[in-house]
Amino acid sequence: MNCKDAIPWMHEYLDGDLSGPEAAKLKEHLLTCRDCRAMFEQFERTEALVRSLTPVPVPGDLTARIMNGIPMPKRRGAWLRWVRRHPAASVAAVFALVMLTSFATMWNEDSELIVKGTDLEHVQIRGNTVIVPAGQTVRGNLMVQGGEVQVEGEVSGNLTVIDGTVNMASTARIAGQYKKVDQALDYVWYKLNDWATAITH
Ligand SMILES: [Zn+2]
Repeated sequence: MNCKDAIPWMHEYLDGDLSGPEAAKLKEHLLTCRDCRAMFEQFERTEALVRSLTPVPVPGDLTARIMNGIPMPKRRGAWLRWVRRHPAASVAAVFALVMLTSFATMWNEDSELIVKGTDLEHVQIRGNTVIVPAGQTVRGNLMVQGGEVQVEGEVSGNLTVIDGTVNMASTARIAGQYKKVDQALDYVWYKLNDWATAITH
């Protein structure tokens, strides 16, 4: 077996699709080829992380499941395949997933208002409400988490609202994309999608 053949077999093995004799051949190759072994370990780590984050409706607290390492029901996502078939990106993928896992874990503990943007000069914050006043332009992207957003003016970039509500006045204008995200995991997918888009374009 050469290395070129080994890679698709690794994917099949991790999918549980490799027969006994084939698995034995793959194992033989992995024992003798350090490069493939390293790659296989990378696939396994990525797979474990991806699986732990795959959003399937499960009873109980997701965070607790992740923290306690309770396995998720098996489900093959399209993007799992994407990650696995782009080994060069695997290290970055694992890194991003680890970061996002910690992020999802902290989610429920953190309900305070968070406002992020490149230009917050004209943004008003009153209590839990973030206001883009009429006649004002926020240059760049605006992200609000855990609050209400009242848009009367203009946002020249993207508006992202996480776990919050949005009121658009008739004068409101969002030049970029407007996204509303309601749960931690949705946000994780949103970030992953962002990241995948960034590195595949
Ligand atoms: Zn090899």
